[in-house]
Amino acid sequence: MNVPFVDLHAQYLSIKSEIDAAIAEVIKTTAFIRGPYVAAFEQEYAKHYGFAEVVSMANGTDTLYVSLKMLGVGPGDEVITAANSWISSSEVIGQLRATPVFVDIDEYYTLDVEQLERAVSGKTKAIIPVHLFGQMADMDAVMKIADSRGIPVIEDCAQSHYAEQHGRRAGTIGLAGSYSFYPGKNLGAYGDAGALGTNDAAFAKRTRTFANHGALIKHQHVMEGINSRLDGLQAAILSAKLPYILEWTAARQRVARNYDELLADIPQLTRPRVRPGNTHVYHLYVVEVDRREELVAFLASHGVETAVHYPTPLPLLPAYAHLGGNAEDFPVAVAKHTRILSLPIFPELTHEQQVHVAGVIREFYESR
Ligand SMILES: *Cc1c(COP(=O)(O)O)cnc(C)c1O
Repeated sequence: MNVPFVDLHAQYLSIKSEIDAAIAEVIKTTAFIRGPYVAAFEQEYAKHYGFAEVVSMANGTDTLYVSLKMLGVGPGDEVITAANSWISSSEVIGQLRATPVFVDIDEYYTLDVEQLERAVSGKTKAIIPVHLFGQMADMDAVMKIADSRGIPVIEDCAQSHYAEQHGRRAGTIGLAGSYSFYPGKNLGAYGDAGALGTNDAAFAKRTRTFANHGALIKHQHVMEGINSRLDGLQAAILSAKLPYILEWTAARQRVARNYDELLADIPQLTRPRVRPGNTHVYHLYVVEVDRREELVAFLASHGVETAVHYPTPLPLLPAYAHLGGNAEDFPVAVAKHTRILSLPIFPELTHEQQVHVAGVIREFYESR
């Protein structure tokens, strides 16, 4: 049996007629850049998610970059973020010639708030908590630290659309939430796409302006900006998919519960923990295992695709050698990075496929 890490085609087939019609419509009206489909998706997502405004952009990385830029982050400033993430959450800091300040993660793979408190300095211009794998960082603690010093918080929700903490959705607690609609994300386009959600009208206006060549009205450039726009095709596809997102999220949660049961009594494996008060949306199902490389090869030889998120903690990458990051400064990220393993998860994954994955893992540890 083959179990792919993710199967985007299965989801396309489940709503094929809607997607095909949406694409045909955009081509027919040639509303490729800006236009009604982009405006419609922004309004639908804002209403469905619970934001006053949604500002769409070309990808999720740009939403972080544009946010920091419009907060005035520049040379000499510091921005604090988590040691284990996709590089987007830190590379946008360096792009503005500011310094990323990494803090270690906690047992839920999100920013350790005690370290966050110690990392804040007079130069801290923003904090980017990353709601990694599908659950939120401890936002009560993050906001307490940030608010007491007037530091803005941009939540990186690229992996946590519709995740909740004590009933509040990811991205709605800080100044803005940043979303990626990269095809494999929980809400995915058919190419690059991203958006910022915020309840701050002035911040929405500034970021919207900067992302569109510094002009809200054509040729009226109030500043130099960049070209980072969601295109009409992606917007129409996202609008077609939006009505299904809660159903797909529930399916991911069902898949996770199945894994929790199927993998319960394997002593060499630790299942993902959910922070009290959190609703996890399982963008990824990440376990910690003994002898990972051998297990990965064994799973592959039995048709099971896996991945590692991420093989190297950010501060230890060559890209950040100039910061002089030390393994001892990030004990949790370092201890976990050789043990973490992401198992296949997507809404259409069948129970039979999950039984196969669990069976192969069990066989590996029992046979050697
Ligand atoms: C995917 C991702 C991003 C960036 O999104 P893109 O749309 O690929 O630019 C940012 N942060 C995290 C944690 C991500 O997983």
